[in-house]
Amino acid sequence: MTVRTRIAPSPTGYMHIGTLRTVLFDYFLARQGGGQFILRVEDTDQARLVDGALESLLGTFQKLGIDYDEGPVLQADGSIAEKGDCGPYVQSARLSLYKKYADELLADGHAYICFCTKERLDEMRAAQTAAKQTPKYDRRCCALTVDDIASRRTNGETYVVRMKIPEGKVAFDDAIRGRIAFDLSDVDDQVIIKSDGFASYHLAVVVDDHLMRISHVLRGEEWISSTPKQIVLHEMFGWKMPVYAHVPLILNPDKTKLSKRKGDVSVESYLAKGYLPAAILNFIATLGFNPTADREVYTMDELVALFDLTKVNHGGAVMNIEKLDWMNQQYITKLDKDALLAAVTPFTTYDVTEPIMRRAVLVERGRVSRLTEFTERIAPYAEMPPYDASILIWKKSNATDCQMQLSNICNFVTTTSDETFTQIALLETAIKAYIESNGLQNGNVLWPLRVALSSAEKSASPYELLWALGKEESIARITAAITKFDA
Ligand code: GLU
Repeated sequence: MTVRTRIAPSPTGYMHIGTLRTVLFDYFLARQGGGQFILRVEDTDQARLVDGALESLLGTFQKLGIDYDEGPVLQADGSIAEKGDCGPYVQSARLSLYKKYADELLADGHAYICFCTKERLDEMRAAQTAAKQTPKYDRRCCALTVDDIASRRTNGETYVVRMKIPEGKVAFDDAIRGRIAFDLSDVDDQVIIKSDGFASYHLAVVVDDHLMRISHVLRGEEWISSTPKQIVLHEMFGWKMPVYAHVPLILNPDKTKLSKRKGDVSVESYLAKGYLPAAILNFIATLGFNPTADREVYTMDELVALFDLTKVNHGGAVMNIEKLDWMNQQYITKLDKDALLAAVTPFTTYDVTEPIMRRAVLVERGRVSRLTEFTERIAPYAEMPPYDASILIWKKSNATDCQMQLSNICNFVTTTSDETFTQIALLETAIKAYIESNGLQNGNVLWPLRVALSSAEKSASPYELLWALGKEESIARITAAITKFDA
């Protein structure tokens, strides 16, 4: 069997973290089986359409670097093209197809036209609820004759098409949860064509999964109750059933369902907070799925090789932000120099020269877990903000000594070779030797030197600052500090 998986998001304006998890599982399964991963956009709910949502969804796939084999693609000029031969991949462009299949079901007696008004349905449900029955359409319109239907349609009465749920039971083997059975007597006759002529989710999803030759339907567990209806539709059409797998929910640390109220649910907000795409992918892919017991960090290729649906935990997976921070730090540490600079640049608003910026990000990367933290960490490398001379003085020293120490270290730095400035370790050795050979105390020299270089009470070490700023800028800063005492 060719593995063909699909993600079928409704364009809401952002990508939910849970959707990303399903995307990744789809991707791993397809790549593992040498098959295809398809993106299909479910936009038939006209009431929920959001302007620009499709572009933003496609842009998020690009930012994450997740490649799908078929589906709509955002072009550099902002337009949308499609790749793959099962398109269109946006459901609103497929309406005539759904109509055709709904007509087939009508002709075969698997579906019927229903003219009942909202008021009648509300009354009916209220009465059923009062009588402690499961609210379900009472099939009044099943009794209509062909002539009744024809004349009411000619009169312009609005109607829906409903599928006629048969009696009995359906069961399927969920690839994550095992066998799940449903009694169809609890299932309502679903609307498959809505009064606005659009197909409902159930019809569109089944027709598309069939026509797109989907072998595995992975989706969030909130869709489990839809599955019996979709199985029935497959049976009515006589189509082969895909494998279903319902992915458990992602939970807040208090075990409630991840919600906007309690934390960020969109992938875009995690990108904006300075999490690297690779870290987000690794973290989300291993939420509730541990490929091996000995480590946490995996490349996408490793995950493709190790992924196993049967090892996905059945329970909800808790979103542990501390772990995400830790993982992001691992990825920040591993970035090569150019990639690090490119990743940090959007998060720094300061005017720092490129050579200094390149070294500064290397110095600071071990101290951040999110790219946004670079904003503050890079500040000392930009043009020096005004500061008070008093912060230059070490707690066990005084202004006169501080100024003298700064003058002496300035001379020393001036005579330090360019070779020494090529490495933090060489600068450290040279300055420590200077302190020792002159019988000085560390604090008397290192504190004012560090503050002079960073203009801040807290910063990287003086050796790191010297290296990052370079000789010329370091001397300029120490000299500026010395003159502060003359004012
Ligand atoms: N359109 C549904 C969603 O937004 C897709 C459900 C499915 O995968 O069948 O998640």
